[in-house]
Amino acid sequence: MNLDEIDIHKELKKFFGFSQFKGLQEHVIKSIISKNNTFVIMPTGGGKSLCYQLPALIQEGTAIVVSPLIALMKNQVDAIRSLSSENGIAHVLNSSLTKTEINQVKKDITSGITKLLYVAPESLTKEEYVEFLQSVTISFVAIDEAHCISEWGHDFRPEYRNLKAIIKLIGDVPVIGLTATATPKVQEDILKNLDMSDATTFKASFNRPSLFYEVRTKTKNIESDIIRFIKQHKGKSGIIYCLSRKKVEEIAEVLQVNGISAVPYHAGLDAKTRAKHQDMFLMEDVDVVVATIAFGMGIDKPDVRFVIHHDIPKSLESYYQETGRAGRDGGEGHCLAYYSYKDVEKLEKFMSGKPVAEQEIGFALLQEVVAYAETSMSRRKFLLHYFGEEFDSETGEGADMDDNVRNPKVKVEAKENVKK
Ligand code: ADP
Ligand code: MG
Repeated sequence: MNLDEIDIHKELKKFFGFSQFKGLQEHVIKSIISKNNTFVIMPTGGGKSLCYQLPALIQEGTAIVVSPLIALMKNQVDAIRSLSSENGIAHVLNSSLTKTEINQVKKDITSGITKLLYVAPESLTKEEYVEFLQSVTISFVAIDEAHCISEWGHDFRPEYRNLKAIIKLIGDVPVIGLTATATPKVQEDILKNLDMSDATTFKASFNRPSLFYEVRTKTKNIESDIIRFIKQHKGKSGIIYCLSRKKVEEIAEVLQVNGISAVPYHAGLDAKTRAKHQDMFLMEDVDVVVATIAFGMGIDKPDVRFVIHHDIPKSLESYYQETGRAGRDGGEGHCLAYYSYKDVEKLEKFMSGKPVAEQEIGFALLQEVVAYAETSMSRRKFLLHYFGEEFDSETGEGADMDDNVRNPKVKVEAKENVKK
């Protein structure tokens, strides 16, 4: 398709009802339409889906979208169908479909109705599907959550490693990788494993200027410290992350006893209770949810005002994702982490049961968390540097929004000078 022939703004309005592209979307879409291999790195909520959905909708053939979670695929298919009068415009191909359903999917693809075909990586490797996909017109292959290909990411999935070989079998089509993981190591892995060093890369800034970053030393008084913090943020929504289910229960109870409306959330609770507690938080029946990292995937509460880490996270990547749930509306979000070296040792011990390669990666990621906790430089600069991004700690957006910048640590030399 010729870029000059289509007005992608008009198409954006027509399909999605939006009058403007968000961030780098327009550039990404142009790159995809021009048949370039394309690599997109944008924070969560940045609007990555539209980057491949729009080109898929306006091009000839079917775009294959690889995604790791069936629930996510179903959501997207429903969303796309709601924009069209044609039900077959988007389909999911997975093992739960009946023979009749599979035939319908194939029919819609063959007749050119289907613009987006969502597949789980393990389905794509099925010989039967590969043969079929070779016989139809494929516009491109989009690989969402592309960090799943890397052991350095937070969600390594071995099936992702086979994708490039399958894509080659299907045909010579452009590949689009998308991820919210910004660490240079993961990016290298993605480009290498998808064999797309030639990809046009688009990377959005990961800076969240309205988030305030703070680290406090973890002491015996942590509970009263947290209670004091929450009381200073009376009526505001917040999340407290703990490492273990037991700690979640403990802290939730301590808060309740102290008159703070809080509920626990972890994978040990039954599905009904989990859903209830999540709803109570979203509907503001409670102010605080105390949770393990099981909480948060897909939570889109715009006005979360603080995220507290009772225990240190296992990587800066996770820390960024977890704190990123604060201040979605652009308003302030206070990100407070408690740090003690004992916790680091605990996490290391935790990992020592794992295979050596995994351990090494785990230790290396943890060391970065330690360095972040112990640094006296701008925390925002430190975080962004970890994501391969330059940040000017004097003039950058949100430059004064952390404890180190607001209250610079008194240097040892300075103290000595005073003594003399
Ligand atoms: P990501 O996959 O990057 O986390 P999504 O694709 O889920 O982000 O999009 C996040 C939100 O942004 C969605 O609610 C989506 O409808 C919205 N969105 C995407 N593009 C635009 C746009 N151009 N204008 C307004 N809203 C948009
Ligand atoms: Mg997404």
